[in-house]
Amino acid sequence: MTIDEIERQMRAALSDERRATNRVLVLINLAEARKLHLERGFSSLFDWLVHGLGYAQSSAYRRIEAARLLRDVPQAAAKLETGELNLSTMAKAKSAIRAKEKRSGRKMSKEEQAEVVSKVENKTIFEAEQTLVTMFPEISDDVYQERKTVISADQIRLSFNISAEGFKDLEWVKNYLSHAEPKGDTGKIFARLLKEFRARIEKQGQRATSAMEKAPENERRATAKKVSLHRVQRRCEYKDETTGKVCGTSFQVEVDHIRPRAMGGEDRLKNYRCLCRAHNQLVAEQKLGQYRVNRWRSRRSTHRQDGS
Ligand SMILES: [Zn+2]
Repeated sequence: MTIDEIERQMRAALSDERRATNRVLVLINLAEARKLHLERGFSSLFDWLVHGLGYAQSSAYRRIEAARLLRDVPQAAAKLETGELNLSTMAKAKSAIRAKEKRSGRKMSKEEQAEVVSKVENKTIFEAEQTLVTMFPEISDDVYQERKTVISADQIRLSFNISAEGFKDLEWVKNYLSHAEPKGDTGKIFARLLKEFRARIEKQGQRATSAMEKAPENERRATAKKVSLHRVQRRCEYKDETTGKVCGTSFQVEVDHIRPRAMGGEDRLKNYRCLCRAHNQLVAEQKLGQYRVNRWRSRRSTHRQDGS
C-alpha cells in the first residue's frame, strides 16, 4: 500500500468512526429516556457503559456528557462529524455549563449553551479548558473537585475540596488524635475516622438484627427496615429477569415494599428488599403503572356488568 493510499483509507476510517460516535450518543440518549440501563440491572447509565458494554470509565464519562450536551445543542452533532468538536471538548463544555447552572441556580438557554459550545470548536482540550475558565472564572473550583490517583497497590492519592468549616473540624480531630497520630498524617486520620464510622453503622445493623430476632412477632414490624438494610449489606437487589444481572450497587440504597402497601403489602421482613434510588423509582413506576392498569380493568369490567 502506498502512503497516499494509507492516508486515504485513514481519512475514510476516521469519518466512519465519527459517524459511529454520533450514533452512539443518539443511542445513549434513547437508552436513558427508556431507562434501558435500569431495566438491565445497572445502577446508572455510567455503570451500564462501563460494566455492560466494556467502555473505559473516562470514555464512558465523555460519551454521557457529550450525549447530554446534544440534547440541548443538537447542532453539535454535525460538528462532531466534521471534527470541529470532539468528545473531550464537548464533555468539557457540558461540565462547565452544568457548574455554571449550579452556581447561578438558573438553567442556561439553548442559545447560551450553543454559544459556549461554539467557543470550544477547533480547540485542543487544553485550549478548551482555558477558554471555559476564562468565560466562567467562578466555576474553576467546581469543575476541579475530586481526583484520585493510584500510587501503589495499597495507596491512593486523593485530592478534593473541603469547606473552611470542615477544615476546622479536621484540625480539631488532628489535635484530638495527636497522641495516636503525632505526625498528623491526614490520610491516616481519614482512614481511621472512616473505619470507625463504618464499624458504627455495621454495629447498628447487627443490633437491629438481634433485636428483631428477640422481639415478639407483633413487634417485629418496626425493625424490619433496619434489618433489610443490614441483610444485604446495603446493596441493591434489583434483578433483570431477562439476563439475570443483579444491580448490586451500594449507592443511595433504600428499602422497598415488594408488594406495595397500596396493594395490600405488609410491613413484614419478607416483603422488604433493598433497591438503589434509581431502581426503586423504576420499580415504583412499573408497579404504579400496573396498579393503574388493574384498577382501570376492574372499573371497566364493573361498568360492563352495570350495563348488562
Ligand atoms: Zn439498583
